[in-house]
Amino acid sequence: MGGAALATLAAAEASAAQATGAGAVTTTTKRKFRYGMVIDTWRCVGCKACVVACKAENKTPPGVSYTVVLDGVMGNSPNDKPLFMTKPCFHCENPPCVDVCPVGATFKRSQDGIVVVDYDRCIGCRYCITGCPYGARYFDYGDDYRQVSEKTAWADVPSPEYSQFIKRKENKSPAGNVRKCTFCVHLQDAEGKYDEHGGRWPACAKTCTGHAIHFGDFNDPESAVSLLLRERQAIRLKEELGTNPNVYYLL
Ligand code: SF4
Ligand code: SF4
Repeated sequence: MGGAALATLAAAEASAAQATGAGAVTTTTKRKFRYGMVIDTWRCVGCKACVVACKAENKTPPGVSYTVVLDGVMGNSPNDKPLFMTKPCFHCENPPCVDVCPVGATFKRSQDGIVVVDYDRCIGCRYCITGCPYGARYFDYGDDYRQVSEKTAWADVPSPEYSQFIKRKENKSPAGNVRKCTFCVHLQDAEGKYDEHGGRWPACAKTCTGHAIHFGDFNDPESAVSLLLRERQAIRLKEELGTNPNVYYLL
């Protein structure tokens, strides 16, 4: 999706919210797709391939990582099972990050529930970083990795994010903006569908060595994510806040 398309969607979402008096899309909103993830903590081996795959896909700069892997131990003795949790944006049904944005730059897409940032609108105030209870947003300070080869600088490698293919330039967007996981929305086809077997699938889920990250459409009762939620015990983080995340963890 290009910047103009994002801006148009942002304006439509803002006027719809004004018309209904609603600050955020609620759980009753009917969408074509409801994309989300089911992450199996028993299968995650903590290799961080998802972190690297995301960085390679989205060409994110130093200090910006759309997913991270948290680690800990289940139990009290050193021999207890280690626990790893990969943590992307949860694309919450009631996202507080959206509520606090003063310019409507970040919004939840009505067709699939993916929470995005319009870099043309974002003024870099960082309210959304404060508003997100999951630490899923990052400010782009404009830093770059060192030259990757004699001929190519990291800044010369365009990012496919939002299908905008932006090359990093000093003091130009997305430097100075807040950035976050997009569920690799640029890999959707014109109808908004992904294709796991064709490779058009979020980079973290595609690369996960332990097959711990499951991605799909919760609106489809036969999708892998829907089936896993029916078969296994799952939790979501900080449910008491009412954010209604679209990322579940299997225990
Ligand atoms: Fe917003 Fe944070 Fe929820 Fe993502 S995890 S939708 S950034 S509140
Ligand atoms: Fe909105 Fe950008 Fe401010 Fe975040 S940093 S609240 S996206 S204007």
